[in-house]
Amino acid sequence: MNGLMMSQQLSISSIVEHAERVNGNAEIVSVTADNPRHRYTYQQAFARARKLADGIATWGLAQGDRIATLAWNDYRHFETYYGSACSGYVCHTINPRLFPEQLVYIINHAEDRYIFIDPDFVSLAEGLVEECPGVRGWVVLTTAERMPQTSLPNVLCYETLVAAGSEAFQWPELDENAACALCYTSGTTGNPKGVLYSHRSTMLHAYATMMPDALGIARKDVVLPIVPMFHVNAWGNPYSCPMAGAKLVLPGSKMGDGETLAALINEEKVTMSAGVPTVWLGLLAYLKASGQRVESLERIVVGGAACPLSIMEELDTYGVQSKVGWGMTEMSPLGTVNASQATRENYSEEDFAKVRLKGGRQVFGVEMKIVDDEGNELPWDGEAFGSLKVRGPWVCSSYFKLEGSDAHAEEGWFETGDVATIDPDGYMAITDRTKDVIKSGGEWISSIEVENVATDHPKVAEAAVIGHYHPKWSERPLLIVVRGPEGKDLTSQEMLAWFEGRIAKWWTPDAVQFADELPHTATGKVQKVKLREIYKNFAFPV
Ligand code: AMP
Repeated sequence: MNGLMMSQQLSISSIVEHAERVNGNAEIVSVTADNPRHRYTYQQAFARARKLADGIATWGLAQGDRIATLAWNDYRHFETYYGSACSGYVCHTINPRLFPEQLVYIINHAEDRYIFIDPDFVSLAEGLVEECPGVRGWVVLTTAERMPQTSLPNVLCYETLVAAGSEAFQWPELDENAACALCYTSGTTGNPKGVLYSHRSTMLHAYATMMPDALGIARKDVVLPIVPMFHVNAWGNPYSCPMAGAKLVLPGSKMGDGETLAALINEEKVTMSAGVPTVWLGLLAYLKASGQRVESLERIVVGGAACPLSIMEELDTYGVQSKVGWGMTEMSPLGTVNASQATRENYSEEDFAKVRLKGGRQVFGVEMKIVDDEGNELPWDGEAFGSLKVRGPWVCSSYFKLEGSDAHAEEGWFETGDVATIDPDGYMAITDRTKDVIKSGGEWISSIEVENVATDHPKVAEAAVIGHYHPKWSERPLLIVVRGPEGKDLTSQEMLAWFEGRIAKWWTPDAVQFADELPHTATGKVQKVKLREIYKNFAFPV
């Protein structure tokens, strides 16, 4: 027997309708190229999204066609998210930091019809035009007065387009399974793969991120996403904030600028923020140098890469609670959040320092398991390492235009490519990427744990560990270190001595190499494939 409840479709246009009615006065503040502090309300934002949609409706696109963006986090990008997706098109957010060949591949693979670009990216776009014949037009996210001189064909001005549209535009009824957004993963090898989110998956994910032990977003919050809107929808913040009625602060191109971030936090009274570890390093360096504090900032979520304990402890000194989150593009992205702060009294200082570094516990809606090489499920004992698999309504079932491909080896589960342990309390800890794991004499060494210890050294700015050929053990860890500002005199001996008593002796790297910088992907992850290439001729002393 079926229940007798309404089967309203979960579509993101319902966020617009809700926010306009009950959260209309909450603000969106943005840093943009043409206005260092633009400020308006959700009501105004969604009125403009409607006008934009009315303009797009004249382009003759088919439902499901892709409208792409090459843009920073700001209000026009926000309007484009909604103006495109709520009218039945797919908002394809492109990472402008990718190499031009990758951009061309992605644009053509996605069959993008129009691309919205920040003025900063006009020359980048000009270099792509010839190789992207399927793109019918380019929209520059600026005003008529500030339109740059450009050779782009069929170029439109965003503000002119919005001004011509009607606010009376009505959002069409959409099926909740219809696609609303597309984001390509920037893998370290091979071509990027497209993850196609649906209205339903986006809505459920946004609900889940709002839970108190997840990102915990409420009406009283002022949220500063320092995660790009071109990378997994800024962790769902552009959806969850209007749902909750939280004020949204968008930092534009200034995501790596500690001074702008501190100013935004203090002047806009930001309570919650989210970003990758490097963002916090930049902010903390600025705070230390300037002597400023960030009194309003209650908590942050840090994810995307393993977070060194030193960052979390320094944030403690500013009264900012930091929670680790883990996820991936294929998971919309949220998988786990570490809420150990909430039960801190249950831990000794030493245990808390260990547990707070873990990825955390699965958010309701995501299921996890770890398996061995034969696919046998491993115990949640905090010791066993295995390949991490996930499933849930906001997890990718297959990649765009690769449907039926082997996105996951086991039916119904997505293979994350991460290696993890899960402890009896459900705290998952990423120990490696499957392809980065170091096997020494047949035993696994967690490169992430070794890296965490290395980066805790006060003279180290960044560190990476790779498995490197060893005649006796087949592989041993090689540590590559970028010295910090106080580390000019750091030696291999001093570095290796640091591991004594901090990790198992046999996990200690066999050698250290110093580098000026580490190679990173467009999303800021260390490119270990490249590191292995750079150090391929290195020989461990025997
Ligand atoms: P992306 O799809 O670009 O967001 O990358 C997802 C990958 O980033 C995951 O599969 C992990 O390898 C890594 N990652 C994300 N969050 C964390 C975290 N908290 N700790 C360690 N690695 C992480």
